[in-house]
Amino acid sequence: MHNDRIHAIHALAARAAEQPAPPARATIEDFGSDVFGEQAIRKYLPKVVAEKLLATVNSGAPLDPAIAADVAHGMKEWAVDRGATHFTHWFMPLNGGTAEKHDAFLEPAAGGKAVFAFSGKNLVLGEPDASSFPNGGIRSTFEARGYTAWDPTSPAFIKRHANGATLCIPTAFCSFGGEALDRKTPLLRSIQALKKATTRLMRCFGLPDEPVRVTLGAEQEYFLVDRAFWLQRPDLVQTGRTLFGAPPPKHQQLEDHYFGAIRPRVLKFMEEAERELWRLGIPAKTRHNEVAPAQFELAPVFEELNLAVDHNMLVMEVLRQCAERNGLVCLLHEKPFAGVNGSGKHNNWSLAYGARNLLDPGDDPAQNAIFLTVLCAVVRAIDLHADLLRTTTAGAGNDCRLGGNEAPPAVVSVFLGDQLADVVSALARGSRGAARKAGTLRVGVDTLPPLPRDATDRNRTSTFAFTGNKFEFRQPGASQPCAAANMFLNVMVADSFDRFADQLEKSPPEAFNDTLQALLRRVFRKHERVIFNGDGYSAEWVAEADRRGLPNLRDTRQAIAPLLDGANQALVAKYGVLSKVEMESRHEVALEEYERKVGIEGGIALEIARSMILPVVVDAYSKAATTLGRASADGLSAGLAGLRAEAETLGRGLDDLSSRCAGLEKALAAGDPGAVLAAMAAVRETVDALEHEVDDAAWPLPKYREMLFLY
Ligand code: ADP
Ligand code: MG
Repeated sequence: MHNDRIHAIHALAARAAEQPAPPARATIEDFGSDVFGEQAIRKYLPKVVAEKLLATVNSGAPLDPAIAADVAHGMKEWAVDRGATHFTHWFMPLNGGTAEKHDAFLEPAAGGKAVFAFSGKNLVLGEPDASSFPNGGIRSTFEARGYTAWDPTSPAFIKRHANGATLCIPTAFCSFGGEALDRKTPLLRSIQALKKATTRLMRCFGLPDEPVRVTLGAEQEYFLVDRAFWLQRPDLVQTGRTLFGAPPPKHQQLEDHYFGAIRPRVLKFMEEAERELWRLGIPAKTRHNEVAPAQFELAPVFEELNLAVDHNMLVMEVLRQCAERNGLVCLLHEKPFAGVNGSGKHNNWSLAYGARNLLDPGDDPAQNAIFLTVLCAVVRAIDLHADLLRTTTAGAGNDCRLGGNEAPPAVVSVFLGDQLADVVSALARGSRGAARKAGTLRVGVDTLPPLPRDATDRNRTSTFAFTGNKFEFRQPGASQPCAAANMFLNVMVADSFDRFADQLEKSPPEAFNDTLQALLRRVFRKHERVIFNGDGYSAEWVAEADRRGLPNLRDTRQAIAPLLDGANQALVAKYGVLSKVEMESRHEVALEEYERKVGIEGGIALEIARSMILPVVVDAYSKAATTLGRASADGLSAGLAGLRAEAETLGRGLDDLSSRCAGLEKALAAGDPGAVLAAMAAVRETVDALEHEVDDAAWPLPKYREMLFLY
């Protein structure tokens, strides 16, 4: 086994990652120090320019193009003061990650010298070649250019490396024709649509206009494995998950990992990652051990949605890089290890109007009427468009997680908690008997009793749970960017708000209470079926959901089909978020990515099975057969049965492995993802059984009991 190639891998495992050590201590003053935020803006820009930019950042005023040159100059001065030599437009193409192409600030100057310069045009617009990013057929080959456009609402920041730093400018990425080629463009459009609809609805309640803020808190789950193990697992290196591995006797069943004491090595890593996140102005707040061994979570304080989405992309990047620096690898795949919990990204979404969280029940009846209206709008949105939301959690990785071990099912349902569900049910029935204590429930602005605050029990099994003052969507996978789910959520809720406003606006003021009451009653009645407060992980729920007619889109191909649905396309287009063509392109990108990922998994599974496992099994079998032959020639009796059984098991394993590998090869050639996944599962079954039979010292892949426990 020990040829030079293997030695090189060992050497790589031993080499310390080449990144600068972080400063020894994190102080709270460091928060945001690598961000071109309000403080830096005021310090580095002329006063009028600073005020104009801050008006855009803080209250969404249109950007004055005349300030671009001054902003660019000040931003560059700030970045150079922090050691930057280069800048990049930083964007989110449809490949699931972020993209950057660095340019030096360098400009040749007289006398063979050079200076640092950065123009307004460089800040505002970039023209990266778009031809190598997924575009789902939008970009014709003769127009290879894509355009990146500065998003001033997400502040520029600095990324550091061992020898310097780069100024990163968050941008949207579009085609020549203006079609979105990224995740930020439609997200921004959807935020605008929801803000508009919210303002309209709040006016129905007689409220003065106030700034609307869509908010997101994205909880990030991940696994850590030692880099030395990772380097010995071609499946982890190539696909992010283990394609083989027998579950060890002890995994998570003792429930001794969740919230357990964090091991010092992991804590050191977390501390470093958080220090970096704080410098980037990302409010990393909570850290803890998760349910599965070697699984962890990081949760930030919620922020404005667009910023929170960008920040989550940075969280994933910083976790990966810090892990590497610590001799670890951070796995963001949704199901790196079969048989234990997978990793999700709980998407906590809410809506604020001025200082008020519209999903906060609050104490006074007037606020409660608004709360119930918003709640009702969300319930309607989810019932009508669960399929659209489900498209955003599709993917080869999340397919391995959803509906699996302690993971939400593929059905989207709303959890309200018993008390709130009672209130809703009383409202829907409008009958005396149904309402507890409160008698018949009236939503009138002055008649509704205070709602129970924070009365929701924590249902961890719901896909879309109301958790006191926000909704938590639990289906998204750990590796998935937050943009898509929230983009559709915004559109769906905007549509509900607009339908409500259509009716409320028509009502004369004196009839407002009655109109609202009737509206909520009708809508809750119609969409109650999507509310489920029981155990979402149970098989009974899946059957019940089917009876209720809720969609259960099990795998990626089913889950992305609603992107092609005419009604969905019309809805999303109506709000100017994605055109029909853009929806279709997203379908194509998702399908292609899924097929390619499954193809890669099948390919690497076959390679591992044939070139790493098979030789070891052949060896073990021939040893066992030789020993058996000698033992019978020598006339041994007592051990013979055991030796024969061992040789037979290995022989059968060898046979199975060969034929199942042939099956996988055939499925790969046919190119059908379903068949490839089934053939991979068959090969895995044989390999995992053989893992228990073959001499431990000869097994070529690090085992689950090692990767999950030794770090
Ligand atoms: P858990 O759900 O694990 O019990 P919390 O309820 O404290 O934890 O919060 C989970 C996440 O929800 C955090 O990131 C938090 O900042 C976020 N969150 C809290 N309030 C809001 C809100 N109004 N809008 C969006 N996210 C929120
Ligand atoms: Mg949570």
